[in-house]
Amino acid sequence: MSKILKIRARQVFDSRGNPTIETEIYSKNLSASAICPSGASTGTYEAFEKRDTKNKKYLGKSVLNAVNLVNTKISKKLKGKNIHDQTRIDTILINLDGTRQKKNLGANAILSVSMAAKKLSAKIKGVPLYKTFLIKNNYKLPYPLMNIINGGAHANNGLRIQEFMIRPDKAKSFSEAMHICFVVISNLRNLIISRGLSTSVGDEGGFAPMISSNEKALDLVVAAIKRSGFKNGKDVSICLDVAANELIKMKKYSIHSNKFISVDQSIKKYKKMIKKYKIKSIEDPFGENDWIAWNKLIKQTNSVQIIGDDLYVTNLERLKKGFLNNSSNSILIKLNQIGTVSETLEVIKFAKIIGYNTIISHRSGDSEDTFIADLAVGTNSNQIKSGSLARSERVAKYNQLLRIEEELGKKARMNKVN
Ligand code: PEP
Ligand code: MG
Repeated sequence: MSKILKIRARQVFDSRGNPTIETEIYSKNLSASAICPSGASTGTYEAFEKRDTKNKKYLGKSVLNAVNLVNTKISKKLKGKNIHDQTRIDTILINLDGTRQKKNLGANAILSVSMAAKKLSAKIKGVPLYKTFLIKNNYKLPYPLMNIINGGAHANNGLRIQEFMIRPDKAKSFSEAMHICFVVISNLRNLIISRGLSTSVGDEGGFAPMISSNEKALDLVVAAIKRSGFKNGKDVSICLDVAANELIKMKKYSIHSNKFISVDQSIKKYKKMIKKYKIKSIEDPFGENDWIAWNKLIKQTNSVQIIGDDLYVTNLERLKKGFLNNSSNSILIKLNQIGTVSETLEVIKFAKIIGYNTIISHRSGDSEDTFIADLAVGTNSNQIKSGSLARSERVAKYNQLLRIEEELGKKARMNKVN
């Protein structure tokens, strides 16, 4: 047994320049740290992110209370505990908080501790982090879902859909996946320049040109795939995160234009879009409470990967409800939506039992922390979402996957896509 000797949290900054929490845990000879990410298009049912809303020094965004809670209450409870007993550590954190959405301590405070503990345990054992999750052998690398055009809450260009992504289905290795994405993104950049548009990027590193129609964005992506010598829908697939929670008013949706239309009309338009652009995956096509709309869509879109993000918020109870309702066939996994490593693994385990794809995801406000890359391999998750090939906080996760692939050597395999 290795005991936790000291826990120290501090306020650092995320990729949007907002304060966030980093926690460092010490054992006798080693230490490990973790940084909590932060979302912009958050679901109502996500675990609570604690910020100092009344402290105007950082415009209400500092996390000094959360830092203080780790350095006092949490530290006191966890000192002397076995660093290798993640379940016990997480249970102590959950009980110490005592609320459903972790409102007392804050999921950001709790998660930074939970992830740091997991990292330190691996470090002490001398094993790579990815070998300490669910899978013990036959590790599979995830397909990257690269968000190459940013819209919605992640850019200010007026694009209604939040993420236009590519998935390099043709790739036989992770390095080949990176090569394919590199070529498509480079061609997309040139196309955007040739149309006189800006190549500045959004929060997740994808281009954020001033175009406001989904079709125009999709036409650009199709052209970039073609120009790269790949076949859309075969070699490279277009995937979307609609983040429809942001586009609802009175049960109507403004996904396809700024006009609000019914669920049935929206489904009709989705079907047209899927056919025309050979779209293979849609995340959050409808709102977090609109279970019936999700079920209607999945019944009409056979082979499309339908992912629940805000719908499930990495919460086992919500995933069970979605399963019973036949809402989706896949789940997005974000550690800070639920707040501990153990609860995240429980959700992934259940998703696997019911045959759902698991897609590990960053947040739009992220950091140099690469925990999710190891989590994706260590759970044999099908895909990973970490933005585009731009901004180091995004690329850091892909670079970590390249390192893992190299370490696995001949044993490295890609996961299956859909
Ligand atoms: C998402 O919606 O999938 C996402 C990564 O964005 P955010 O972190 O803003 O929720
Ligand atoms: Mg999403």
